[in-house]
Amino acid sequence: VPGLVVLAEDDPAVSALVRLYLTRDGFGVEAYTHGDAALQAILGRRPVAAVLDIGLPGMDGIEVCRRLRERGDRTPVLFVTARDDEVDRILGLELGADDYVTKPFSPRELVLRVGLVLRHAAPADTAASLLVDGGLRVDPAARTAELDGAPLALTTREFDLLAFLVAHPGRAFTREELLKLVWGWDFGDQSTVTVHVRRLREKIEKDPTSPLRIATIWGTGYRYDLSS
Ligand code: CA
Repeated sequence: VPGLVVLAEDDPAVSALVRLYLTRDGFGVEAYTHGDAALQAILGRRPVAAVLDIGLPGMDGIEVCRRLRERGDRTPVLFVTARDDEVDRILGLELGADDYVTKPFSPRELVLRVGLVLRHAAPADTAASLLVDGGLRVDPAARTAELDGAPLALTTREFDLLAFLVAHPGRAFTREELLKLVWGWDFGDQSTVTVHVRRLREKIEKDPTSPLRIATIWGTGYRYDLSS
């Protein structure tokens, strides 16, 4: 059994659907409709992950996460958001939130994201932290990367950006988000991201002019596509 997931969602239909899919994947699920009840459950039951809707009666999902982190609780959190401004709050607060899905989402996507937050939360000294995609291997603990067995010479930021993208495959990030999440900058010149992506492509793409791994999403930003 992959473990217990605490779910906080006040929409009964969404809650039932999420529970169904998580259960199918072998997770145990405890569902709550109020933020404060979910907070107590997470602290008391020590689940492997928590799925928190942001719009909850009582205490909202972001507040639940904030209080967890205040208490030193590192339970991986997947947020469920209904609005863009909530995404801004998640990213801006840097709570250590691992991921989010935006409503409406497919239940399969949500289960996939839960798996990803669990993988990212794995301790740095386990093999789980090694990111492998085809011939590309990124080792965040050792801060080394190699392609087809040859070490990649990457700057610190290039490494951070590559490790971040490979850890979030299939997900598009804006330049603004990448500045925030990789550089830790709340504002800054977004062309910094563009330049680093170009340099990374020159190092990891067979043909940097038609990249297969780091895709440009027009009007959005970039997305890492798994090659395997
Ligand atoms: Ca809600």
